Amino acid sequence: MDFCYEGDPDLLPVAEAKRRIAAHMPVITDTEPVAINDAMGRIAAEDVVSPVDVPGHTNSAVDGYALRGADLPDSGARRLKIAGEVLAGGLYKGVLGERTAVRIMTGAAVPNGADTVVMLEQTEVDGDTVVIGAGHRPGQNVRQAGEDLRRGDTAVKKGTRIMPAELGVIASFGQAQVTVFRRPRVACFSTGDELRSPGESRELGAVFDSNRYTLCGMLTRIGAEVMNMGVVADNRQALNDALADAADRADAIITSGGVSAGDADYVKQTLESLGRVGFWKIAIRPGRPLAFGLIGNAAFFGLPGNPVAVMVTFYQFVKPALCQMMGERDLRPTPELTATCISKLRKKKGRVEYYRAVLDRDDKGNLVVRSTGKTGSGLLHTMSDANCFIVLDDDAESVEPGTQVNVQPFFGLV
Ligand code: AMP
Ligand code: MG
Repeated sequence: MDFCYEGDPDLLPVAEAKRRIAAHMPVITDTEPVAINDAMGRIAAEDVVSPVDVPGHTNSAVDGYALRGADLPDSGARRLKIAGEVLAGGLYKGVLGERTAVRIMTGAAVPNGADTVVMLEQTEVDGDTVVIGAGHRPGQNVRQAGEDLRRGDTAVKKGTRIMPAELGVIASFGQAQVTVFRRPRVACFSTGDELRSPGESRELGAVFDSNRYTLCGMLTRIGAEVMNMGVVADNRQALNDALADAADRADAIITSGGVSAGDADYVKQTLESLGRVGFWKIAIRPGRPLAFGLIGNAAFFGLPGNPVAVMVTFYQFVKPALCQMMGERDLRPTPELTATCISKLRKKKGRVEYYRAVLDRDDKGNLVVRSTGKTGSGLLHTMSDANCFIVLDDDAESVEPGTQVNVQPFFGLV
């Protein structure tokens, strides 16, 4: 696929933009060992193979009496002699004989000779014997050694994001560290002469920089190493220096602002002179001006300035691209579901539109979704009010209340 998009820049479809980014995104191959305590959210850089059987010994799933399946009565009840007790972590020495039982705790090793456990609640103790009724099945309540993982099984595949389940799985065979890909270093700065940082004073006409904060938050969430580079003025030289410096040190660079057609919008020009521009506009709302390119070995994303557009384009384009860069395999598809839209939505054909919305259940338990109302892409608080996007595809037109729509919940997405 050619790097530069030669078609009408206003009409680059969202799906095509995603394909182009995926085809040209650099990937990180450096790896490092980390302690499992520090591995949450990291990407496994090699298959993690279990060196042992899990569980390591055949053990009881319940508190009860271990016995031979052959000693279970077909009908009536049978008395077995209590030959001893084995606690979790303990071992019953010797082999369980015929017509005997051993009191056993959950997780304790099933004594040699025994193959079945009857739950404590289904037994009756009488002196040094235990009474077992009918209706049990030989082999019941026993967890076999290696039933979860056999020695040599791949427990976690290369490219898996290590989540709580994987942390536990790796711990379950006693491994204390895991080899993961290095985290991508992502340089992040805002552009605009009007921007002030929180904590500074703001004169009339100035705007507090919020994009760097949402961006740093979103990057932290996906496990990137954030290089917070501050605010760059609308000045060709300043932008050139900032981008060149970032490209030397970062795996990816994200800017916001300065990509629309205004006179002070230098991002595209600077990207052209320092690197290569893949595209700089997409048929999407909000977020139409979005530059993608490469500067040296670093991927470059020039996001729009409007704060809602920053978040929409990050989740739709930058997040999947960075997950790919991190070596994440089988990118989990963005969760989508269908709900009844109870708002009227104005929509233009020929672009994908993302509406901030609230997903809820009506009193019959059906999923309904309503727009947060105001749609201005500068109204960042609507992102905080919303819990999902309604996604209307390129060929969709305006929506009347009662229509089924596609929804991307924020949970799972973020
Ligand atoms: P631009 O694309 O640079 O023309 O910016 C579009 C709009 O987004 C303008 O209203 C900017 O003031 C606003 N904007 C740009 N960058 C930021 C930022 N970092 N934080 C908040 N608003 C911004
Ligand atoms: Mg600007």
